[in-house]
Amino acid sequence: MTSSRFFNTLRTSSSISWKQTGKIQQTLASVIEKSGTTLHSGEFSTAKLFPAKAGEGRFFICGDRRSRIPASIDFVTETTLCTTLCKDGARIRTVEHLLSALEGTGVDNCRIEIDGSDEVPLLDGSAQEWVEAIEKVGLCTANDSNGSSMEKMAPFLHEPVHVWSNDSFIAAFPSSKVHITYGIAFPQVPAIGYQWFSSFPLDNSFYAKQIASSRTFGIYEEVERLRKAGLIQGGSADNAIVCSASKGWLNPPLRFQDEPCRHKVLDLVGDFSLFAQNGNQGLPVAHIVAYKGGHSLHASFLRHLSGFC
Ligand SMILES: [Zn+2]
Repeated sequence: MTSSRFFNTLRTSSSISWKQTGKIQQTLASVIEKSGTTLHSGEFSTAKLFPAKAGEGRFFICGDRRSRIPASIDFVTETTLCTTLCKDGARIRTVEHLLSALEGTGVDNCRIEIDGSDEVPLLDGSAQEWVEAIEKVGLCTANDSNGSSMEKMAPFLHEPVHVWSNDSFIAAFPSSKVHITYGIAFPQVPAIGYQWFSSFPLDNSFYAKQIASSRTFGIYEEVERLRKAGLIQGGSADNAIVCSASKGWLNPPLRFQDEPCRHKVLDLVGDFSLFAQNGNQGLPVAHIVAYKGGHSLHASFLRHLSGFC
């Protein structure tokens, strides 16, 4: 095993230290292919996931020029209702659920080829189909070009950090394990109302059983407005749970009574996976407490953690 020779290139800031996790970097044991409608453009796209070498991390190959875009906070450009990565004129949208599944199951290195659209297919609006496909093909040790495995490092938080915007916030505190607590507030939609969900410890098993199957949710009264703005053209009752302020849930049953709040944890894991570099863990080892967050605040937190703002 090689100790991380990329260690010197990892992001550093006063709030985090990269430490060994006691695990070695992994990748997929075989190829996964999934196709489906995309959320915003409503086009049909195909994602093929290939094993990748230790140290390569997760990256997309997309667009006519088959550009390579690393799944990194350095390339996040837009966070309106989904997370978008751009590099050298190429872009890939709605990366968060797939990346959440990869981070949540320990696929540290992965080449993701996208065809047919500039978006990842939405599938059922959760990470469940990705997790099932990953479990089916299995994981294996990732080797570098010399045939050696590499240690997996993780960013450990050693002082409290927070970002906020109006009444939304994300705060993180030192902890020996990953612990995520998420709150949402929809007083205007009584069927959702106020919810808190806490995951401890957020390990691969907890993620697969308690988080991965939670679907995207939408507020019925906002759907028309978003459609007119050219967004969520591919959104439907097959890939989201929809709640009306006056009529409650329009396409029950829910998979969990607090499914919307669990989906926010799913999104946070996907967005925070973008802190990963060189096949190491992205999700900081910390107790992360988020309230009324979204993709934009998730990205702000990572930039703050990187010492950029
Ligand atoms: Zn989501």
